[in-house]
Amino acid sequence: MPSFSPFDTTLWHATAMPAPATGPLEGRVKTDICIVGGGYTGMSSAIELRKRGHDVVLLEAQEAGFGGSGRNAGHCTPTFSYFSLDELRKLLGLERANRLIARQTAGADIAARYIQDYQISCEWKQNGYFQGALTPSRVERVRKKADAYASVGLDSGIVDAEEARRLTGSSRFYGGWLLKQGGHLNPLGYARGLARAVLQEGAELYTSSKVSKVERQGQRWHVRTDQGVVDAEKVIMATGAYTDGGWQGLDKTFRIKKVILAATSPLPEGVRARVIPFDGTMHDGRGDIFVYKYNREGRIVASMFPVGRRGRDLDFTREMLMDRLRWLHPEVPETTRWDYYWTGELDMQRNTIPRLYALGPGALACTGLSGRGVPTGTMLGGILADWAEGTPEPELALPVERLKSAPPYMSFAPGMVLRWYNLQDRIAAMRDGVELPPHA
Ligand SMILES: Cc1cc2nc3c(=O)[nH]c(=O)nc-3n(C[C@H](O)[C@H](O)[C@H](O)COP(=O)(O)OP(=O)(O)OC[C@H]3O[C@@H](n4cnc5c(N)ncnc54)[C@H](O)[C@@H]3O)c2cc1C
Repeated sequence: MPSFSPFDTTLWHATAMPAPATGPLEGRVKTDICIVGGGYTGMSSAIELRKRGHDVVLLEAQEAGFGGSGRNAGHCTPTFSYFSLDELRKLLGLERANRLIARQTAGADIAARYIQDYQISCEWKQNGYFQGALTPSRVERVRKKADAYASVGLDSGIVDAEEARRLTGSSRFYGGWLLKQGGHLNPLGYARGLARAVLQEGAELYTSSKVSKVERQGQRWHVRTDQGVVDAEKVIMATGAYTDGGWQGLDKTFRIKKVILAATSPLPEGVRARVIPFDGTMHDGRGDIFVYKYNREGRIVASMFPVGRRGRDLDFTREMLMDRLRWLHPEVPETTRWDYYWTGELDMQRNTIPRLYALGPGALACTGLSGRGVPTGTMLGGILADWAEGTPEPELALPVERLKSAPPYMSFAPGMVLRWYNLQDRIAAMRDGVELPPHA
């Protein structure tokens, strides 16, 4: 097995609702569509396909939510992390891009509907996403994003410094972008709730069922595990960054990018009223991306990408995360500790939107979500169900490509981009004459 970060050391593992009782596949079963991978992508596909009347068997190597879906930061921000909407329209063509934009921007509302319909207990809050401007000139930059998302129908706008202080409790921001559709949740609780929903919709879900081989037998596919085989008309591989065999070369379609997460000790209630009082997702607006939110116990869960010493030196990383948090929110008590610290793996590829790969007649893989997987994995079920129902490729919201490896430079390019953003932030702070955050 490839070496992934530990699964059972996360805050979510300690606090999520239990998984439904499931076990391994034994023997032979026949179905319309076999889905491999029990993350948001695989499970939303299973739910959508069942709703459209298809028989579905879902195979998961470990347990539902074992991958990124059970260990992420839990922000559900229905936007694109890297591309502007105009860049996407150039990349995909107007019609396809608009279809994808419509799906992605609905991602948080689809999650909210699943949570409501299947009564998923996962700390869901849809109080909005705030991306701050830490220098006056950055307000214009976030204004462009706010306008772009408002133009496609989201409740998205700019707030001034005073409103930013009221929402976030921090006086560091010169303004910011508020996207009201943003939500946050306990990611493993959501994944386990989706697993229940998959069963409730009548799909078969087998865990501890690692797929070792997918092979064509006449007009059908045989999807093999240690103890069983699924005989299916169609196959969807949705194994993401945690791909562990199953189809040769699939794990080369992306490069792993680690993410660091940490959760504080619970903050006293009086403090919580003054630190992120709007209780949404906070993004400090810097290119090296410090994102944070509360969990239901009043812990702040913070995340960053490891760069240089950050991530390599644990003591330094804890200290820098706390310095960054207390610089933004001096009300966070000095006695606050990081009770939990964990890392996880992202499937990064060049275009940072999910990639669909044709594996053979009626077999498709979807990897490379490159972050934003909470809304993206949730909305992908609709796109993958369209594919499985035979929607012609030009009418899908994503193109279907031939399987190809991510370019080798993707091993270091994301790190270089983060350093470049950091430099731009330093220049902006110098030009605007404002203080830089600690360790910036
Ligand atoms: C630390 C971290 C923080 C993040 N923070 C956020 C965030 O705040 N907001 C956000 O939107 N996104 C975030 N992301 C990204 C998001 O978590 C992922 O993009 C998303 O969960 C991917 O979902 P998925 O279903 O495609 O893959 P996964 O959730 O990784 O699921 C793939 C599943 O396939 C299974 N599998 C692999 N190989 C096999 C096999 N051979 N047979 C059977 N099963 C197999 C794995 O065990 C795994 O359970 C974060 C990711 C990480 C790692």
